[in-house]
Amino acid sequence: MEFNVCQICGAKDGRAGFLVANSVRNLVPACQNCDDTRRTGVIVIHAHLSRTEKELTKTMNILKGPVSTSVNSTINNTLILYAVRNSSGQYFRAKGYHGQGATWVNDINKAKIYGGTGGARGTITWMANAFPKYPILDLIKLTVSGIEVVDEKDRVLKTQIKKAKAEEQRKAAQAKRELENAKKKLAEAEANIKRLTNF
Ligand SMILES: [Zn+2]
Repeated sequence: MEFNVCQICGAKDGRAGFLVANSVRNLVPACQNCDDTRRTGVIVIHAHLSRTEKELTKTMNILKGPVSTSVNSTINNTLILYAVRNSSGQYFRAKGYHGQGATWVNDINKAKIYGGTGGARGTITWMANAFPKYPILDLIKLTVSGIEVVDEKDRVLKTQIKKAKAEEQRKAAQAKRELENAKKKLAEAEANIKRLTNF
């Protein structure tokens, strides 16, 4: 006899109970404890499921995983980014190949943001060589603090459900079309038989 094994907490030998693996959400098969916990973002332990300390810890660790479930959780690292600014206080904007719009913008949110000094300094040097009459551009160092984790679970789940529903509707519409075609062919065949036997 083979028993279910929860892919998250490892509950086995008949204690796992039924496993949930929602293909829409593309999740690994997990027991009710682990599935409810990952789904709701709060630790759910069902009394009827017998679990070892180690298994319970693994279930609780779901919420400490790489993807935070808390909207307000912060990242305690400082991120350094760079931008390039001209003497009028405007920021350089990357237009890309055949890009449209202004090269210089007042809003830093529209500025080209560099992950390191290399790219930003490259732009400054290139501009200095291309437009020697203009003042040398400033390198702007951005120290990013207050980084917030935005929970994307609900949004992604909604998109996936919407996609699954659209697929169901498409299949239903196709089945309807096929049925109508079959009915049409049947009617034609019946008319043919009638015509051939009507002598
Ligand atoms: Zn489990």
